[in-house]
Amino acid sequence: MIDDQKRILVTGGAGFIGSHLCGRLLADGHDVLCVDNFYTGTKRNMLPFLDNPFFELLRHDITFPLFVEVDEIYNLACPASPIHYQNDPVQTTKVNVHGAINMLGLAKRLKSKILQASTSEIYGDPTVNPQPETYKGSVNPIGPRSCYDEGKRCAETLFFDYHRQHQVKIKVARIFNTYGPRMHPNDGRVVSNFIVQSLRCEPLTIYGNGFQTRSFCYVDDLVDGLIREMNTPDYFTGPLNLGNPTESTILELAELILNLTGSKSGIQYNTLPQDDPRQRQPDITLAKQVLEWEPTVPLQEGLQKTIDYFDDLLREGIDKYNSRWQMPKMKVVAINDSIKSVGPYPETQPSTLIPPA
Ligand code: NAD
Ligand code: UDP
Repeated sequence: MIDDQKRILVTGGAGFIGSHLCGRLLADGHDVLCVDNFYTGTKRNMLPFLDNPFFELLRHDITFPLFVEVDEIYNLACPASPIHYQNDPVQTTKVNVHGAINMLGLAKRLKSKILQASTSEIYGDPTVNPQPETYKGSVNPIGPRSCYDEGKRCAETLFFDYHRQHQVKIKVARIFNTYGPRMHPNDGRVVSNFIVQSLRCEPLTIYGNGFQTRSFCYVDDLVDGLIREMNTPDYFTGPLNLGNPTESTILELAELILNLTGSKSGIQYNTLPQDDPRQRQPDITLAKQVLEWEPTVPLQEGLQKTIDYFDDLLREGIDKYNSRWQMPKMKVVAINDSIKSVGPYPETQPSTLIPPA
């Protein structure tokens, strides 16, 4: 046991990022309590830790109060992939808002530090690239992504109000697209989709023309950033961008994954979902200064590790894993030929006084 062993609560610890965080905290010698309702997380992600006497797993939904004794809280509970969070949007807002209130109340009672897993979705479809923490964002409050985007924005508001009003020691991390082993194979996110499709020799589904960009961070780098932020002095609250600033188009990502897997899969262009951000790149100047942190795992290396993971998973049998989540049916626009633009696609518009024809 280490001298400064802490009791650490990780909500959403059975999910993709949470399970890596639990693993790293245990490896650092801490006592970890993972709380999860297994909405998108799995017991399989917990298998490496179940024999560890310093690990405890509690099935609990954080939209209900929780009474435990810990020194630090990482609040990660919330489905992260668009398919998952749009499946039950009311619950998504609840986990962000009620869940944050419950966890902040717990931190207030315990006088413990609490870190919020916020997101680059705070910036919506950004008009500034890269996005610094000072950018206020461009978010649609009534679209299909709003339950997540606005839920996370409200959670940030709650964190800062608990800090100002009740002196809770908060840390807010704005996480950009993160990938790696233990992503859910059916979660619909672009990295897991493209890898599983390549390994199955199915066409890679690009939404829109593939010119939209994202910046992908390997999970080990992200977890290291989260722990460094938790360990900052109490006066540092964030918000702090954590992500890899190397930006690629979705088309470039598809080509890289096809090369790495040696797959003969083609490309299928589908309609672009509403409010899909056109560009996203973190400005990590603040994280470099405050945490002395920047990502170290190049995209190609991280993708190879993720491909190896999914290759093993597919051999094991994906249906045994959890097939509750199905891919959405999307309109196919073109196969293999690249396309210049896709649309129009249906949008939720504010209503007018003119009745529909
Ligand atoms: P994930 O879906 O794999 O993990 C989320 C976990 O939260 C799951 O284990 C799920 O079962 C659990 N959960 C959901 N609702 C719950 C509830 N009411 N009570 C208890 N547990 C609940 O997602 P992830 O990629 O690991 O993301 C973790 C966190 O990081 C999320 O808060 C997400 O918003 C944030 N984040 C992730 C990314 C990314 O690229 N992965 C980017 C930005 C932010
Ligand atoms: N995307 C895609 N094909 C897929 C899944 C996603 O082209 O099979 C696109 C999606 O439209 C978005 C980008 O990839 O532009 C990243 O999507 P993801 O769901 O991984 O994350 P987010 O949109 O939340 O950043």
